[in-house]
Amino acid sequence: MAGTGVFADIFDGDAYKYYSDGEWKKSSSGKTVAIINPTTRKTQYKVQACTQEEVNKVMELAKTAQKSWAKTPLWKRAELLHKAAAILKEHKAPIAECLVKEIAKPAKDSVTEVVRSGDLVSYCAEEGVRILGEGKFLVSDSFPGNERTKYCLTSKVPLGVILAIPPFNYPVNLAVSKIAPALIAGNSLVLKPPTQGAVSCLHMVHCFHLAGFPNGLISCVTGKGSEIGDFLTMHPGVNCISFTGGDTGIAISKKAGMIPLQMELGGKDACIVLEDADLDLVASNIIKGGFSYSGQRCTAVKVVLVMESVADALVEKVKAKVAKLTVGAPEDDSDITPVVSESSANFIEGLVKDAKEKGATFCQEYKREGNLIWPLLLDNVRPDMRIAWEEPFGPVLPVIRINSIEEGIHHCNASNFGLQGCVFTKDVNKAILISDAMETGTVQINSAPARGPDHFPFQGLKDSGIGSQGVTNSINMMTKIKTTVINLPTPSYTMG
Ligand code: NAP
Repeated sequence: MAGTGVFADIFDGDAYKYYSDGEWKKSSSGKTVAIINPTTRKTQYKVQACTQEEVNKVMELAKTAQKSWAKTPLWKRAELLHKAAAILKEHKAPIAECLVKEIAKPAKDSVTEVVRSGDLVSYCAEEGVRILGEGKFLVSDSFPGNERTKYCLTSKVPLGVILAIPPFNYPVNLAVSKIAPALIAGNSLVLKPPTQGAVSCLHMVHCFHLAGFPNGLISCVTGKGSEIGDFLTMHPGVNCISFTGGDTGIAISKKAGMIPLQMELGGKDACIVLEDADLDLVASNIIKGGFSYSGQRCTAVKVVLVMESVADALVEKVKAKVAKLTVGAPEDDSDITPVVSESSANFIEGLVKDAKEKGATFCQEYKREGNLIWPLLLDNVRPDMRIAWEEPFGPVLPVIRINSIEEGIHHCNASNFGLQGCVFTKDVNKAILISDAMETGTVQINSAPARGPDHFPFQGLKDSGIGSQGVTNSINMMTKIKTTVINLPTPSYTMG
């Protein structure tokens, strides 16, 4: 159970503690932040509201710990990560329990998130051993005017202190996707978990603690992003920020100093459906892509752009599948569970009302109880409706009927977002042309958008992000190239 057994140290009976210097502590602020269970809408957990002094302290410790961690052999760093991954998977049940209660993630998906996170940590350790163990050797005579008098050796060195800020929807997975690359590359790590999802993250961090990482190397400070976020992101001790979330990331990018940024932000992933598509396959993918975790996924299908000639048939198929979705509590493993907060539910409702006023066709009746919103397919959506452009982050999916492929591509590219997109057709040549024309970080052919598998490159264009994730890219992003040049007094050429 959460907060008991091996996790007893992280809880004081009332509130969860924060993690600094290898210990679980109560904040000197004497204040806590409440985490509201989205299903019951009552306080489920409390976490520490950390102070600026406590942030200063973890930054100082992280800086010191990183220096000796960078001198720890790569294989030893990997060994500890493998150990943490095993502990994480061993304790999947209490962590999944927190995910169910903090973010209303269906029970089975919550377990999957923890197991996937353990796998990611292990994969990252293996990948790090391979790619960080290699460098380059260059010689000077390949550049005009040079003799072979210089040997250049390149290697990858850590950046220093990485600040990791994940969002609520995959708090554990998107935290480890930053922690593991940072650590294998020889960096230290300060985690600021999302408030909804903080207790899941604290349990996950405890698994790293149990694995035996050095004190101060990993810290976890809790508190509302709106209160300590700016202090953290503008802290002079931070050498790199890896952030996943919404528009907050755009504001952080403008305020952060001259440090590398990895930003994975929102999306409005379009699903373009051509006349020759397998409509049963499309309908299943729209259900999986649009309604899994109640649409609260960065890569959810967020707008369907379907050719008019097959639109009626597709909408009927999707409607039939929507009717089969179960709606209820995450504990019961319902397909559709309450969205994360009342303000999120209100925002979604605002988009629905706007679509209603402007004449969208409701394929189901709009229904809401508290934070629980029944799945809703909106047909005949037009570009003047907010839902055509905005990210609902809820179980509401707009369908726009198009008369040409160009119209679909135009709608996709007119969005401020450019995370992923997908195209359904049996004509692979057309699919490639459309993929190339879509201004998104990834295009899936004949499948819904998805972030995984976690070693695939994952990136957003435009307001969807900066840089690229995926295990290999994240490790590389959290390093810098260092070169050493050996200068010879006379040219030296290798002989065959
Ligand atoms: P969010 O509101 O932007 O919050 C993300 C994180 O930022 C949370 O940890 C939040 O902490 C923190 N934060 C808030 N204000 C901050 C500030 N001023 N400075 C620093 N940190 C601050 O996003 P969300 O609602 O959790 O997640 C949903 C969004 O994430 C959606 O837009 C979704 O598309 C996007 N997302 C993108 C990806 C991707 O890989 N592209 C993946 C998943 C989700 P608090 O919780 O304490 O406010």
